[in-house]
Amino acid sequence: MSNQDCIFCKIIAGEIPCFKIYETDKVLSFLDIGPVNKGHALVIPKQHCENIWDLPAELGQDIITAAQLAGDAIVKATGADGLNLIMNNNEAAGQLVFHAHFHLIPRFKEDGFVH
Ligand code: 5GP
Ligand code: ZN
Repeated sequence: MSNQDCIFCKIIAGEIPCFKIYETDKVLSFLDIGPVNKGHALVIPKQHCENIWDLPAELGQDIITAAQLAGDAIVKATGADGLNLIMNNNEAAGQLVFHAHFHLIPRFKEDGFVH
């Protein structure tokens, strides 16, 4: 079920263009329009759901597989040394688009990541 006002549902429907990295009948991975690092991408379920609690558990495996395959392609294409997989849930956690999504963020040694 799609949500008429949802920007990611419009991307899935092909009404808004995106640079696709990986796609099945259940999930889509594409480049983020405002990358925080080179190769920043998103993985979304094609079924509209708002956040982690709304996400059907059976889609979890498809999303992990998409994250592995798209993540591998991005790491190889950018020469990244690592990859963050991040999900923001609810406004207080930084969620701006209310269609569940995981961020794939390539990391480079020169980023100087601090734990
Ligand atoms: P959030 O803050 O909700 O976790 O992240 C939403 C992400 O969606 C942001 O990183 C933002 O750059 C990305 N985004 C928003 N609108 C579009 C769009 O129309 N196309 C693409 N490719 N990414 C988008
Ligand atoms: Zn949606």
